[in-house]
Amino acid sequence: MYVDLLERQRLFFHQGKTRDIFFRKEQLEVLKRSIKTREHDLMNALKVDLNKSTEEAFLTEIAPLYQEISHTIKHLTKWSKPQKVKAPISHFGSRGVVYSEPHGLTLIIAPWNYPVQLAFAPLIGAIAGGNCAVIKPSELTPNTSKIIKELLNESYSKDYICVVEGAVETSQRLLEQPFDYIFFTGSVAVGKVVMEAAAKQLIPVTLELGGKSPAVVDKSAKLDLAAKRIAWGKFINAGQTCVAPDYVLVHEEVKDSFLNHLKKQMDELFSQKIKSGSYPRIVSERHFERLLSFLNEGEVIKGGDFNRENLVISPTLLEEVDWNETMMKEEIFGPLLPIFSYREAEEAISIIRDRPCPLAFYIFAENEEMQKRFIHELPFGGGCINDTVMHLATPYLPFGGKGESGIGAYHGYNSFLAFTHRKSILKQTTRFDLPIRYRQDEKAMSLL
Ligand code: NAD
Repeated sequence: MYVDLLERQRLFFHQGKTRDIFFRKEQLEVLKRSIKTREHDLMNALKVDLNKSTEEAFLTEIAPLYQEISHTIKHLTKWSKPQKVKAPISHFGSRGVVYSEPHGLTLIIAPWNYPVQLAFAPLIGAIAGGNCAVIKPSELTPNTSKIIKELLNESYSKDYICVVEGAVETSQRLLEQPFDYIFFTGSVAVGKVVMEAAAKQLIPVTLELGGKSPAVVDKSAKLDLAAKRIAWGKFINAGQTCVAPDYVLVHEEVKDSFLNHLKKQMDELFSQKIKSGSYPRIVSERHFERLLSFLNEGEVIKGGDFNRENLVISPTLLEEVDWNETMMKEEIFGPLLPIFSYREAEEAISIIRDRPCPLAFYIFAENEEMQKRFIHELPFGGGCINDTVMHLATPYLPFGGKGESGIGAYHGYNSFLAFTHRKSILKQTTRFDLPIRYRQDEKAMSLL
């Protein structure tokens, strides 16, 4: 059945419509208008699927899309212009040009934690790059998936953009099809499955994965601000954010003071949401039970409350967690934050370096030497100095992982790059033909 869908998309792609920059811009405008029209339906669906409040849904799922679409429309003409490049003397008479060409048929597989943003943000790149797209939303957020499907069906011909709903099997069947490019957002384990499937047909991939993203709080940090920004980045969406701080390493001299600030900020930012029942829930019973089992892996020093009926766990801090516990081996992906202390920067650096490369890293310090040291000595996808999460919410920074946390990057111009191929063309003159290029003796070689 997907063979037919791909054939129709292939036919549409070959008609050449998507190569036109005006067409691409128009389709981006259509996307913006359609999201606007269905904004309330999307937010209602997010409420049912994840208990996201309207404000949080708008801030973290919808608003970044409007920003990304406007930015893309504004810059697309410039990004898509052929780039003229120089030729070396050995190529005298020729010119080089680099064209950014669409891949063709693209597959976008999305996760459940920001189901709207993470389905549409790659789609913006696909449209901007001049591709056709098939989108497979997560089965764990079925109400949101349904609205995404309706919205895209109302806006585009399926021969151009199509949604295929389903779970693992659907995803696996799609991965057997001859797409020209695959954009996957999800877990490290499934990222490996996707890459293996893509390798069978040598399909290029971008893998936006996860991992354990640390936050380091140096003794020079402004502790109140560090606490506020860590609490916000960690506990928003109940910690179900790919770049949420997974654990904190705080300098032992400031640990007590930092923890006091952190507890206060957690109350200020989230206790009202918990009381009013508007704090996001854990996506499934399986994930809920997995997180509850972590509560026994350390000493709970704040929070630790949960409600099995509505799958809510309150923002929680833990201490005394052993590095060998499951919680410290898996991405936590929930509202539990283990706190560790360190004495010397080397100690914190080696703790992080000994583990798989994180998607994000956060350093809180006023001391600029310390900022530089952590930023340059550690491998990680991207991150912030004195903030959390915000690096992913700007179209000006490439967003992606490294090593286990992912391959490739997107957002803004980098989405355009991800969804296009650089086709290099050398245009040779026919006005003359230099004999030297055909000679293979040493003298001729040295002249070239
Ligand atoms: P997941 O890997 O379980 O699922 C992602 C998608 O893959 C879903 O659409 C699912 O149907 C599909 N899928 C699941 N198993 C599959 C299989 N065996 N073969 C083929 N397809 C399969 O991830 P999730 O639980 O939906 O999302 C959480 C993970 O995603 C976390 O690890 C998080 O860090 C990561 N994530 C990363 C980013 C990022 O931008 N880097 C953003 C959000 C989430």
